[in-house]
Amino acid sequence: MDDIDDDAEPLITHAPGVDWDPAERRARMVERDIVSRGVRHAGVLRAIGTVPREQFVSPDVAEFAYDDHPLPIAGGQTISQPYIVALMAEAAELTPGDRVLEVGAGSGYGAAVLSLIAEQVWAIERHRELVSSAERVLRELGYDNARVIWGDGTLGFPPAAPFDAIVVTAGGPRVPPALLDQLADGGRLVMPIGSVTRNQELVRLRRDGDTFEEESLGPVRFVPLIGAQGYSERVAEPEAEVLTVAAPMSGRRTAGVRAPHGISALVAESAEPFSSIVSADIGPLIERIGDARVVLLGESTHGTSEFYRLRARITEELIAHHGFTVVAVESDWPDAARVDAWIRRRTPIGPPFTPFARFPTWMWRNRETVELVDWLRDYNEAHEGDRPPVRFCGLDLYSLFTSRDEVLAFLDSVDTDAAEVARTRYGCLTPWEQDPAAYGRAVVSEGLVACEPGVVATLTDLLANRMDYVDGDVHAFDDAAHNALVVANAERYYRTMYYGSVESWNLRDQHMFDTLRAIEQRAAGGVIVWEHNSHIGDGSATEMASRGESNVGQLCREAYGDDAYLVGFGTDRGTVAAASTWGGPMEVKSIRHSHSLSYERVFVDSGIPAFFMHLRDPERRELRSELSTPRLERAIGVIYRPETELQSHYFQAVLPRQFDEYVWLVETSAVVPLPTHGVLGAPDLYPFGL
Ligand code: SAH
Repeated sequence: MDDIDDDAEPLITHAPGVDWDPAERRARMVERDIVSRGVRHAGVLRAIGTVPREQFVSPDVAEFAYDDHPLPIAGGQTISQPYIVALMAEAAELTPGDRVLEVGAGSGYGAAVLSLIAEQVWAIERHRELVSSAERVLRELGYDNARVIWGDGTLGFPPAAPFDAIVVTAGGPRVPPALLDQLADGGRLVMPIGSVTRNQELVRLRRDGDTFEEESLGPVRFVPLIGAQGYSERVAEPEAEVLTVAAPMSGRRTAGVRAPHGISALVAESAEPFSSIVSADIGPLIERIGDARVVLLGESTHGTSEFYRLRARITEELIAHHGFTVVAVESDWPDAARVDAWIRRRTPIGPPFTPFARFPTWMWRNRETVELVDWLRDYNEAHEGDRPPVRFCGLDLYSLFTSRDEVLAFLDSVDTDAAEVARTRYGCLTPWEQDPAAYGRAVVSEGLVACEPGVVATLTDLLANRMDYVDGDVHAFDDAAHNALVVANAERYYRTMYYGSVESWNLRDQHMFDTLRAIEQRAAGGVIVWEHNSHIGDGSATEMASRGESNVGQLCREAYGDDAYLVGFGTDRGTVAAASTWGGPMEVKSIRHSHSLSYERVFVDSGIPAFFMHLRDPERRELRSELSTPRLERAIGVIYRPETELQSHYFQAVLPRQFDEYVWLVETSAVVPLPTHGVLGAPDLYPFGL
């Protein structure tokens, strides 16, 4: 009846080597994720506080068993988020004598929870390999009043009917009539109803003789219910993102599941292989980019040479032959402005300082970047007068103090009185120059008066005096105004860091997007962005969405639609330049082989060492749909901790929705950092002092 995935990883039912205390984590989870959201049923809280969830998932992900999200299990399915299990069990109003039917047994976890509250549980599952593994765990753990049955749960389980409660853990178009028939008088049925992927509603039906009283319990997202009285496999197929409440990245579509080699074979068929960065035929990619207004080029690490070099090739082609005129990167504004002055042969605005001296220096102070910068300078020189000069801009907001200096230097040159006022206002920040993060801490925990009014007033005063100040040089004014904005946003950024990472992440990505948008609106041609995949891929297709985070890619998608072209880059192994701790020295580290449940592993298994893969193509329905099963994706930033890789460097994503195109290089090497001798002493003149 269904596609049995012979090559699926064996589901191991124990989590050997668990060196943390599951009971403690469970107790914490009950308070943090379940009681806090209003679940009160004592039996439910006790059951969730008892069932060892780590035993129902593969050891690979056991360490996440008590996090607030669903996790992958065999057959491409997911184990429900604990909160959802609790919510549904409470809604089913179980009492100790109840006979319960669960449709969608999955890992067996939900059945175990129900079995601790009710008398007897029958759990039906359509994937045969899940049936045997769930049965095995339940037996081993002694949940003897729960049975798992292989079959189509939309037809119920007549031999054990009627049921006092029916819990359906997959979303269907309507309540299957067979289930209504099998509900006892007074019985409750809890089930998500709605479209295959979105706009589902959790409903509870209560049987009173021949009538059913229906109640809505709120919006949810579940995997599709597939069967005779549910969805057909065909309908459930396209692009389903799958999901559960508050965790939009979990779950998955159920139809057409392929063994890993199946997906990898499909990738191999669809990929455009290349053998070297220099000789790669980027023509088809450039054609697909077409006349997009913004092209976002990502990277899965901040320290991989190949990513820089290949992005440089694409960038040069877009500039030379397709009218692009700006390169905007994930660096600070004043630092990038020095490079901009260099490539446009202008005198730098603002006081001398050492660009890219802030940790992580190797991110832009590397051989690969200098090669691009040299090319940009030569290009601008060769086309002086016949084409608009290409600009180089920084989108980030970490330059609190260099931007402050730039604003003051500008005001000194146009309005010394205003400069004095600004100096006093900015003085509020001075004690924190060595450690701006400590500023946020002091405001939040010690009640220090925030410097916000002063930095905001400086920005508004500057903008209000535009007419007077642009008199001399409009570029200098614009530059100073942007620096004043960076100071204001950075001040907020360092403060919000202490309220939570979601706020500060959103503030930073919103700042980067607003900066990009402002640049794009003034640019003569298109803009090319270089940032990490986690910024430039559409965040709504990743677990960021469940945390309420947005990013540059998502904001571009919303603002530009198909006029934004999002390209992700990834790798399996090799070396990477990264630090072990924030502020620590750069090291060349070996990258671990990618995780068995990751997209990277699918690409390794394609057997093609380097390729471009077009994902937006509507013709590639099968590829997109196969890749739409949420998987892990690796992100290495400026810090790489291979020891805790799964926890620190993987997130869940639906890759074909995240990117329009993906570029794969199975083996890669670290960027070549440049000396930083000037960094601590007198300003060195990157990039021209090298
Ligand atoms: N309750 C599970 C998670 C369920 S995910 C747990 O705690 O692990 C939903 C499950 O419903 C999937 O395993 C899917 O295979 C199953 N499913 C979908 N349609 C089904 C049907 N018609 N009959 C039985 N199971 C079905």
